[in-house]
Amino acid sequence: MPDWLALYYDEPLELTHGEGRHVWDAEGRRYLDFFGGILTTMTAHALPEVTRAISEQAGRILHTSTLYLDRHMVELAERVATLSGIPDARVFFTTSGTEANDAALLLATTHRGSNQVLAMRNSYHGRSFSSVGITGNSAWSPTSLSPLQTLYVHGGVRGRGPWADLSDADFTAACVADLTDMLGQTHGNVAALIAEPVQGVGGFTAPPDGLYAAFKEVLDRHGILWITDEVQTGWGRTGDHFWGWQAHAAAGPPDILTFAKGIGNGMSVGGVVARAEVMNCLGANSISTFGGSPVTMAAGCANLSYLLEHDLQGNARRVGGLLIQRLRAIAAGLPVVREVRGRGLMIGVELAGPDGAPSPRAASLALEHAREAGLLIGKGGREADTLRIAPPLSLTVAEAEEGAELLEGALRRVQSTIGGEQQP
Ligand code: PMP
Repeated sequence: MPDWLALYYDEPLELTHGEGRHVWDAEGRRYLDFFGGILTTMTAHALPEVTRAISEQAGRILHTSTLYLDRHMVELAERVATLSGIPDARVFFTTSGTEANDAALLLATTHRGSNQVLAMRNSYHGRSFSSVGITGNSAWSPTSLSPLQTLYVHGGVRGRGPWADLSDADFTAACVADLTDMLGQTHGNVAALIAEPVQGVGGFTAPPDGLYAAFKEVLDRHGILWITDEVQTGWGRTGDHFWGWQAHAAAGPPDILTFAKGIGNGMSVGGVVARAEVMNCLGANSISTFGGSPVTMAAGCANLSYLLEHDLQGNARRVGGLLIQRLRAIAAGLPVVREVRGRGLMIGVELAGPDGAPSPRAASLALEHAREAGLLIGKGGREADTLRIAPPLSLTVAEAEEGAELLEGALRRVQSTIGGEQQP
C-alpha cells in the first residue's frame, strides 16, 4: 500500500465485524463507533434490512453496467431526484464521492464552457486529479497541478484571523464582498462554485445559515452554477435539514448536488444530481461499469427506506443536540477544548495547547486514548486539531451518554499530558 494512505492510530486497527453502533477488532475488543465507519455507516452496522437486500440481490444477478436497466437503480434515482429539491432532476450514480464531484465538474465546466471554478478555503472534495484541484487544504491536496483554474473563496471556516470575531451578519457581508471582488477580477466566465455546507475533513465547521444563499444571488448574476457537496452532510445528518444546502435555502436549490458515503451503508454508492438542462449538456455517450450496480442500489434503497421510516434525521437532531450540550458541559472544565461545534450528529471538538495554539498532538492523543477506552472517533481540521464525531444516525441517548463519558476520560488524560491546566 502507498505511504500516502493515512492510517489512524500508532498501531493500526483491524475491524472484523459490527452491529448497531458497535464494531469489533481482530482481538475481539468492542468499540462504540462515533465515526460511523467514517460516515459510511449511515443507519447502523449490519442493519438486517440492508444485509437482507444485499444478499437477496447478490443471489439473483451480479451483472453490472449502465447498459441495462436495474429496478433498484431506477427506484433509487427517482427517490433521490425527488428528495434533492432540484426541479426536473436527473441522477447519475457513481462509486464514490470523488467520482461524483468529478462528474459534477465535468457537467459544470462543459455547461459553462469554462474550466475556472470557485472552491472554499479549507475544503475537501476527493482524491482524483480534478478533485484535489478544488481541495483547499494542502495536507490533502498533493499537487498544485490541476486541469482546473481554481479560485478559493472565504466562508467555509472562520479560522483564527481577523474574520474570527465578526458577527454572523458581518462575516456573511465580508464573504460576499470578497466573492464579488474576486469575480470582478476574472474574465467573467466562471463555471461553478463548489462547497460543502459543513466542511467535513476541514473539521466540521459550518458557515452562518444563509451564507450560500447570499453567495447564490451573486453567482446568479454571472450565470455561475452552485454545486453542493453533500457527501458528509446529506441524508439528515445535520439534524435540522435533510441536506446541508437547506440551511441556505432562501435563494432556492443548488444547480448540482453530489452525494456518497452513507447512502449505501457500506456499499459503494455515490452520485450526482442536476436539473435536466445541466445533466444533459454532455454531447457524447457515456457508461459506468460499476456506478449504480444492482447490489449497491438494492442496499441504497433498503437503507433509504429505513432512514425515512425511522426518522433518523429527527434522531440526529434530538440525540445530536443532547450530545453537543453534554460535550459543551465537559469542555467547560477542560482548557484543552477550544470549541465544541456542530449540527445534529456532525460534531467537532477543536483542541488547543496551553498557549491556545492549534494542537494536532492533543487531537492524536485524544484519538489514541479514546480507542483505549473503547471509543472510535475521527479527526480533521486544517491544523488536524479537531476531533470529529459522526456516529451512525440511529445512535441512542444511552450510547450518546456512554460515548461522552468515554471521551471525557480521554480528554482528561490529554489535558494532564499536555498541561493545558496552565493555560492563561
Ligand atoms: N467530498 C467530501 C465532502 C468528502 O468528505 C469526501 C470523503 N472524505 C469526498 C468528497 C470524497 O469521497 P470518497 O472518499 O468516497 O471518494
